[in-house]
This record gives sequence, structure tokens and C-alpha cells, in this order.
Amino acid sequence: AHKRAHKNATMKVMDDVIVIGAGISGLVIAKQVATQGKRVRLVEARPFVGGRLRTVDGIDTGAAWTWPGDKHVRSLAKELGVGLFAQPADGKLVYDSSWGAQEQRDEGAAGPGASRFAGGAGGLARRLHESLDVPTHLNAAVTAIRVDDDGVACEMASGEVLKGRCAVVTAPPRVALEIRYDPPLPRRKREAMASIATWMADAMKVGLAFETPWWRERGYSGAVFSESGPLSQIWDNSDGDQYALAGFAFGRNMLALKAMPEPELKATVLAQLKKVYGSDVVVGDPTRVVSTAWLDEPYTFAPNPAAQTRSYGRPELGATHASKLFFAGTETDPAQGHIEGAVRSGRKAAADVLDFLASAPASSEKKTSSCAQT
Ligand SMILES: Cc1cc2nc3c(=O)[nH]c(=O)nc-3n(C[C@H](O)[C@H](O)[C@H](O)COP(=O)(O)OP(=O)(O)OC[C@H]3O[C@@H](n4cnc5c(N)ncnc54)[C@H](O)[C@@H]3O)c2cc1C
Repeated sequence: AHKRAHKNATMKVMDDVIVIGAGISGLVIAKQVATQGKRVRLVEARPFVGGRLRTVDGIDTGAAWTWPGDKHVRSLAKELGVGLFAQPADGKLVYDSSWGAQEQRDEGAAGPGASRFAGGAGGLARRLHESLDVPTHLNAAVTAIRVDDDGVACEMASGEVLKGRCAVVTAPPRVALEIRYDPPLPRRKREAMASIATWMADAMKVGLAFETPWWRERGYSGAVFSESGPLSQIWDNSDGDQYALAGFAFGRNMLALKAMPEPELKATVLAQLKKVYGSDVVVGDPTRVVSTAWLDEPYTFAPNPAAQTRSYGRPELGATHASKLFFAGTETDPAQGHIEGAVRSGRKAAADVLDFLASAPASSEKKTSSCAQT
């Protein structure tokens, strides 16, 4: 389904820009360009918007935090009326090392000044999408992009082709390399894209909701750093509506956890909590368990044999191709793979798109485009 499908099916005009990917970066671009009266179309491979901002039953299984220096994220949240609240950190943190568990005051294990989004990080993306009046194709992976004198033609997995005067790719670089490009991307750009690790694609996040904040009742903040795992870090993921803990697993622990059916996953994480807190603390029975293993998500993780680096913001990653194909997304920005980089790179790409539209002849506007009814 896509927003405003009926209205657009009858328009038969070439869009000004096709935005590929409706993560926070693509949504920011769509908003900024549409606000200037341009025709924007969003194309998203998944059945929902938000990308790595995902909140399931009130628990963030993707990004959770923003920090005081994230000025683009903060201004976006303010613009959308999305509140921020401080990450709960009152109480003791537990270090679970091979020498046993040690407790210390939690000084803000998620980083100084870490805040979360009211309604979850996924709510930020949803709210931004709701504020847009832009046709959005969901379940619509772009498989090929052709740039020529007329503009940019984006072919979707269904075989349908969308045309724009220009386009922006916001998929993570390794995932974006799965798209066929005509003319082909330059070798240096391809190599840079292959070498960039998708931030947190190697993580699994597991969340558990509880009826009571049993850890707080015994003076703990909920934060755990564990050498043995299976969750290597755990935090309080409560909000105003429910009490919850959420944690990350990586490497072998992640591979083991993601292979487990839900009852086994729940039992395994509960056993870890009981071990960490010892017999003095009665660990509650979770009312719900949610998880996302990002390695299993083909629109976040694309296997690639090239050695990975985290040199986010390398100029080749964000370089424009054939003057009409722009690239954005957090990996194109130096902000360490964070939401801040996604929003900032989106704002930059939107400005580049608007410059292009202002300078390029608009003769192509008379041409028609096929409008998908997916
Ligand atoms: C577990 C985890 C924890 C994190 N924690 C934090 C945190 O606490 N704080 C923080 O600041 N950041 C955090 N991050 C990083 C943050 O989530 C990202 O920086 C941000 O969401 C990236 O946004 P983006 O739009 O650049 O990319 P994405 O969110 O990846 O969006 C790209 C979009 O493109 C779509 N797409 C891909 N291929 C195609 C295609 N061929 N056709 C059409 N669409 C396509 C995807 O489905 C996706 O929706 C975390 C990430 C993860 C996974």
C-alpha cells in the first residue's frame, strides 16, 4: 500500500525527487524538499518506515538514545513535538566479570546526558512520516537505478519503474551496493561503500517488559555490563507506560540467541538476570519479550567479503553520482553511525537536491512516470 496512491495514480508526472529508503535520513530529506513545494516520492523496502529506529511494544529494539551534542536530532524532535526524557540511571550498576559481580554507582552507563524519546525512537520516525504529505511505497525494494539526460529511473523489485528529475539513496552503503547502477558507480566509491560497516548491523537487541521495576526496588539502575553474556550490556528501557529492561548481544552470543525460539530466549535471559543479581533479588517474570537480530534484516545487513572499517563520513560515500544521484544516511556522515549523522546527512542531501532542482532545466516535468499501485 502507499499513501495517497489514488491521487498520484492520476497525476502522471515525473517527480522532482525519488527518495530511496524511509529511515530517519530519507524521511528528513522528504520533509525538507516537500516543504519547498517540490514533488517527492518515498520508496521503502520494508513494510514500515523508520529503518534502524524501531520500537516494538514500547521497547526500542534499534536506536534508543540521543545525547546533548545531537543538535540536529534535538531540533527535529522539537519541531515534531516529540519529548525527550533522561535515561533512568539512579542506583547501582553491576559489572559481571569472570571474577564475579561487582556493584558501583551508575554514572550514566549510556553516556553522560543520554536521553530517550517519549514514545520510543521508532515514534520519532513515525511522527515525521505522519507529518508528510508525500506518496510512500512500502514493500518496494529498489533493485536498479538508471541515470540519463531525462533524470533518474528507479526500478523496484515488482518491475515497476519510478522516474524523478533526481534521486537520493539512503540505504546503508553495503546494502546500497546490492542495487544495480547505470552508469556504474566509480570504483573508488564502490570500494568505499563495501568497506563501511553498517552501524550496529552486528547487534541483537532483546527487551523484556515487567509488571514492577524489581531492580529499582532493590537499589539497582538496571544497567549491567557483562563479560560472559549472553547480553553484554543491559539497560532500563522503562518509559511512562511500562517497566522494561533491554540489552545487546554480539558475536557468538548473538548467533546463539537469535537461533532460539522465544521461550528459550526468555529463559536464557532470565537465567542471566538471576545469576547477575544473585539470590537477594527476586527477578520478575517478564510479561513480554521482544527482539530484533539486525543481521537477519537484509535491508540493514548485506554480507560483503570486504574488510570492514568504521570510517564514517568518508567523502566517497556521500559523493553525488552522474550529477543527479545523491547519497545520504548515517554512514555518509562522521557522527559515528548515530541518529545525529542520519539527520545531518539528510539535511545536507535535501539542500543539495534543492540546489540541483533550482539549477537544472525542468523540461523533464512534462514527461510521464509509471505510478505503482503496490
Ligand atoms: C541496535 C541498534 C542500536 C542503536 N542505538 C543507537 C542509539 O542509541 N543512538 C543513536 O544515535 N543511534 C543508534 N543506532 C544507530 C541509528 O539507528 C542509525 O544511525 C539511524 O537509524 C540510521 O538512519 P538512516 O536513515 O541513515 O538508515 P536506516 O535506518 O538504515 O534507513 C535506511 C532505509 O533504507 C531502506 N532500504 C534499504 N535498501 C533499500 C532498497 N534497496 N530500496 C528501498 N529501501 C531500502 C531500509 O529498509 C531502511 O528503512 C542504533 C542502531 C541499532 C541497529
